[in-house]
Amino acid sequence: MIIVLKPEAPAETAQELLDRISSKGLKPLHMPGSERVVLGALGDERVLAELNLISHPMVESVKAILAPYKLVSRELHPHDSVVRIGELAIGGRALAVIAGPCAVETHEQTLNTARAVKAAGAGGFRAGAYKPRTSPYKFSGHGPEGLRILREVGDETGLPVVTEVMDTADLDAIVELADALQIGARNMQNFSLLRAVGQVRKPVLLKRGMSATIEELLLAAEYLLSAGNDQVVLCERGIRTFERATRNTLDLNAVPYIKQRSHLPVVVDPSHGTGVRDLVAPMALAAVACGADGILVEVHENPVMALSDGEQSLYPEGFEALMAQLRPVAAAVGRTLG
Ligand code: PEP
Ligand code: MN
Repeated sequence: MIIVLKPEAPAETAQELLDRISSKGLKPLHMPGSERVVLGALGDERVLAELNLISHPMVESVKAILAPYKLVSRELHPHDSVVRIGELAIGGRALAVIAGPCAVETHEQTLNTARAVKAAGAGGFRAGAYKPRTSPYKFSGHGPEGLRILREVGDETGLPVVTEVMDTADLDAIVELADALQIGARNMQNFSLLRAVGQVRKPVLLKRGMSATIEELLLAAEYLLSAGNDQVVLCERGIRTFERATRNTLDLNAVPYIKQRSHLPVVVDPSHGTGVRDLVAPMALAAVACGADGILVEVHENPVMALSDGEQSLYPEGFEALMAQLRPVAAAVGRTLG
């Protein structure tokens, strides 16, 4: 519920109403503006109605937030949020490009790839130390050793690093070494992980589950914001459909749909979205054209030798070519590219 106070409302009114909201077990929000103070109340809708705030003489209007997600919604927060991962800003005019291998394999492979993507203009580096694999017999990341390598490479190149957290047991170690945490598609509705990451003060890249609706993605983000972490970037990475020509079907509808309803930045992962190297660049261009705030791309120094996702990883030259192709598309939609 959004409560707009009259311009003449004294500061004590805001406090009095916030106290009333809290006393009912609801979550109070204080959003002072330049002309009017706006308050929010989140929680059980029947209790919200009982508060009868509209009868208060200093309340100008009371409006329900219609979306099931509240803190994530533009109804509550009309302006675009910008999330910062180190020097990289996601959600402003500049497009964010985060690139890197699927996984940390060796120090050399990680460093070489990071240097290559940095030279081509990437603003962030990605690589997994904990990898969710469909088969238990496949390479599942080097864990703590991978994290250590990733941190070293981040420091050596100056690129902020993003890496996946799969389990609350690893959270402290990852928070200590990474600049941003990724919650992968398979964990988008791991509610205990969402609650734990919500307590952390590090940006989060939340990937859409492969069978999740857009509303479920936004409600997963609501878990993070309602637990106190509002540094959230949403990521469309393709969904499962009947189509088998590609690994997933990249749902670019999600980009403008989410941008209209949520203030959170949205990036697109055309690597997992297609699973096919030759489709990554065209879909990255399409993502930027339809309003994505950035892209997350897998790049490997030598994809044929990659321990995971080699078939969808760009060669460094392919990534450099993509960056050159992105510039005019970014300019056409009023964005800049570093
Ligand atoms: C990844 O980014 O390497 C990854 C495992 O992605 P997703 O969770 O989208 O499958
Ligand atoms: Mn991958």
